[in-house]
Amino acid sequence: MFLGPPGAGKGTQAVTMAGDLGMPHVSTGDLLRRALREGTEVGIRAKSFMDAGDLVPDEVLLDLVRGRLTSDDAAGGCVLDGYPRNLAQAESLDEMLRELGAGIVGVLNLSVSEETLVGRIAGRRSDESRVDDAAETVRNRMRVYEEQTAPLVVHYRSRGLLLDVDGEPGVEEVRAAVRSAVAAAS
Ligand code: ADP
Repeated sequence: MFLGPPGAGKGTQAVTMAGDLGMPHVSTGDLLRRALREGTEVGIRAKSFMDAGDLVPDEVLLDLVRGRLTSDDAAGGCVLDGYPRNLAQAESLDEMLRELGAGIVGVLNLSVSEETLVGRIAGRRSDESRVDDAAETVRNRMRVYEEQTAPLVVHYRSRGLLLDVDGEPGVEEVRAAVRSAVAAAS
């Protein structure tokens, strides 16, 4: 599982890790964006929250994540990116995994300074034109991260699951650091 603020590089590193491990990359942001594009009920419910940079309600995520984790290709595990994002989601995930006879192997925490985050998201804004990368929305996503998601760092650290990686350097350097953190932990 990956933890880290918006713009930390979770998506990029999670894709690599999934490739290394031969497991699917499960990004709740990607799943929600697809639901939006396809105009599904989940997408319709999620839209206003995503546009504002707020968390989509937990119960919407629950079905989405459960559906994904119980698909055949995730039977051997997956790399989770963007979930959980608050303590209630962390508890739901534990319950879901218990039912599936599965568990969390490790939580990779990418730390990056706020200055770097803002710069990276500004770059992504011009490349990918994500609606939620607008300046005011980004500030809200950062606030939401600090208030709701950052407590998960403490939560998983106290469970002995946290692997800290400095997300500040370039993609390749971070990739190497992620790989050695995973190797050291397995
Ligand atoms: P980032 O990490 O850069 O903010 P994501 O693609 O992970 O981008 O998420 C984009 C948006 O999707 C979030 O701002 C939020 O509205 C929604 N989202 C994604 N994952 C979750 C989640 N686990 N719980 C609630 N909302 C979520």
